[in-house]
Parts: sequence; structure tokens; C-alpha cells
Amino acid sequence: ERPGMSDADLRARAAAVIPGGMWGHQRAAAVPRGYPQFFVGGDGAFVEDADGRRYIDFMCAWGPIILGHRHPAVSEAVRRQLDRGDCLDGPTPHAVELAETLVATIPHADWAMFQKNGSDAMTTCVTLARAGTGRRKVLVAQGAYHGAVPWCSPSLLGVTAEDRAHLLHFRYNDVASLEEAVLHAGDDLAAIVVSAFRHDIGQAQELPSRTFAAAARAACDRAGAALVVDDVRAGFRLDLGGSWERVGVRPDLAGYSKAIANGQPLAAVTGTERFRDAASRVFVTGSFWYAGAPMAAAVATLEELRRVDAPRVLEAAGLRFRAGLEEQAARHGFALDVTGPPAMPVMLFRDDPEAALGEAFCLEALHRGVYLHHRHNMFLSLAHTPEVVDRALDATEGAFKALARSRAA
Ligand code: PMP
Repeated sequence: ERPGMSDADLRARAAAVIPGGMWGHQRAAAVPRGYPQFFVGGDGAFVEDADGRRYIDFMCAWGPIILGHRHPAVSEAVRRQLDRGDCLDGPTPHAVELAETLVATIPHADWAMFQKNGSDAMTTCVTLARAGTGRRKVLVAQGAYHGAVPWCSPSLLGVTAEDRAHLLHFRYNDVASLEEAVLHAGDDLAAIVVSAFRHDIGQAQELPSRTFAAAARAACDRAGAALVVDDVRAGFRLDLGGSWERVGVRPDLAGYSKAIANGQPLAAVTGTERFRDAASRVFVTGSFWYAGAPMAAAVATLEELRRVDAPRVLEAAGLRFRAGLEEQAARHGFALDVTGPPAMPVMLFRDDPEAALGEAFCLEALHRGVYLHHRHNMFLSLAHTPEVVDRALDATEGAFKALARSRAA
């Protein structure tokens, strides 16, 4: 072990030079106390922390890993481009190939553009909706996460009221509240922005009802506004054609990131013919938005996802995991709710508002080699084979037993 490189050492060093020791969703404060802060590697369904401990990974880098860590076809595609240069004076041919792939895969997509992060993609969607409609108001669901920039950040720290001036809220899956917000926007409605499903942190997840999805589509059609699906988190896990294909509704614009390139930094916006002109005129860009290797990775990722019919395989793995957890919880006398799409489950103990029981359970599982989350939705990958899921369930069985013992004590 190299001196200064243990998790504890790195935390102490970080405390001096990184504000708060770490920022954002991958800071240790976002996971149960006792979880590692630093990681050094991953392969398949496993991650390795800075202290050399290996875990079956149910966070998948919080979404980006969908084929498994270091998938050979993706690594090879990345390496091939890295060997020739990644950041050049213009995009590589992969940009065209990837846009063609998305247009061929996603029914609403007549075109595609690329960015780096989900926040870039969602901000681009809002900019395009405003540019294409000449209107200002944007409707978002209360509690929905669309990114870490002033127009949508969940924190108001450092954000001005003016940044939010044209934002209106509705409740997800609540048609009446949506209609009310639409009315409020009047003739200034640019967009309705909806998550693929309701995945607010710390809450039971909810799939969109067909009625709600149809109402959002109809409201946009009536008002001439853009329906925007935020598929950043769920994209390519539920349906390769876009998550709202499952409820029979197609958006005008959609944002993707996370899983699109199996961990390489990339985001995408897709849109319909109607917004092509706006998309060709707005100024959106970034120094790294044209890099070739992530786009090569995305082409390889999407090809593999299509080849194995990923959504079906991920759902089967998720169903196996969920059924196991539910059976164990019931047998050990715990009320556990596992909600959301099986491939992206949230696991919440009932009557556990501070998620204290959830934390204790996750920590017991961690000590048995399984990395879970107590409040956020988790992610399965194609490396979560039935054998891997069963091995994880052996560990959660031990975690439930330990929890039952400490409850009895
Ligand atoms: N939208 C959704 C639904 C997300 O889950 C996220 C990331 N958690 C974002 C947008 C923002 O993506 P990024 O963190 O890549 O900017």
C-alpha cells in the first residue's frame, strides 16, 4: 500500500485542497457513513475502492455504466481513437455515425447534437424550446432533478430569483396540476419538461401514467410548446427508442447522457424536424463537446445494447434482484418497498423517514461486498448476470440477518 493513498489518507489530503473534502453527488456525505470516498478501478459488475476492497456495484457510477465496467468493445473503440488523438480541430467521423445511429434508433429523433453532461443536454433542450417557440415559460415537476445549473439546481444557494423567473411547477403524474401550470403560462409556454419516470431522491419511484403522458403531449400540441423528456438517467436502460415509448408518447426534444457511452463523458439531445432550424441557429458549444473517443464509445455501446436487447436483459436482472430482496425482507420481518423500473430500483424501508435503517442495511451489505444506495435509485448493468445477482443476494441475506439481530438486541 502506497503511503498517503488509503481512503482515510486521501480524505485528509482532500480536506485541505478540495472544498468540503468533495463536491456533488459523489461526495461521501451522499452515501451511508462508513462507505468509501475514493475508488481506483472497476471491472464488469465490480468496483474497487482505494483500500483495495471489491464490491458488486449497484450504482454503476450513478448511471453511466450499462454494459459493465471496462466493456472490451467500448474500451477498444476508445483506445483506437485515443491512439490517433481525441480532441482535434473539429469533430471526428464518429459524430456523424453516432447521430445516424440515434436517428435510426429513436423514433422521434430527426437529428442529434452532442454535449458532455446531462445538465448541458437539458439546458440545451430548454434553450432550443425557447428559440423554437419564441416563448419563455418552462414547466417542470416539483422535486425533479434536471441538472446542476442555476435554472434547475435543487439548491438555491448561489442562484437568483431571476434565474428561475420563467419556471413553473406541477406535480408529476397529476394531470390537474399540469393543466393548471399550463394555464398559468398562458401564451408564453415554451416547454414542458418531464423525467422519464418519477425518480426523486428518497421517495418511492413512480412510472408515468399513460393518462399523464398523453395529457402532457396534448398540452404541448395545443399550446405549440415543446414536450421535453429528460432521459438523462433512464435513457437506454428502459427502451432504446426513448423511455416514453413505453407509454406511447413521443417528445419533441429529449436529453440523454449517463449510459450513452458506458462511462465515457458524453450527452446528447435529439429532436424533431420542427426544432431543427432552432437547433441549427442557437449557440451551444463546449471545448470538449467534439472529442472523438466518447462518441466512438457511444457507437460501440449502442451497438452492443441493441445486439443483446439490453432493456429486456436489464429488466430480468432487476426483477431477480427485487424478488430476492422482497423475499428476504419479508422473511426477516422488515417492511421494504422496492419501487421503480426493475433495472433502476429504489429500496426504502417503510417508517424510516431519515433512512437510518436503510443506511444500516446498506452498511451491512457493504461489509459483505455489495455497494448499494439507501435513498437514491440504483442501477443494474448487463454485467449483473443471474450469478452476480445471486451472489449479491447472499450478501443481502447476511445484511438482513445482522439487522434482525441488532433489532432483537
Ligand atoms: N437529469 C437527470 C434525470 C439526471 O439524473 C441527471 C444526473 N443525475 C441530470 C439531468 C444531470 O446530468 P449531469 O449530472 O450529467 O449534468
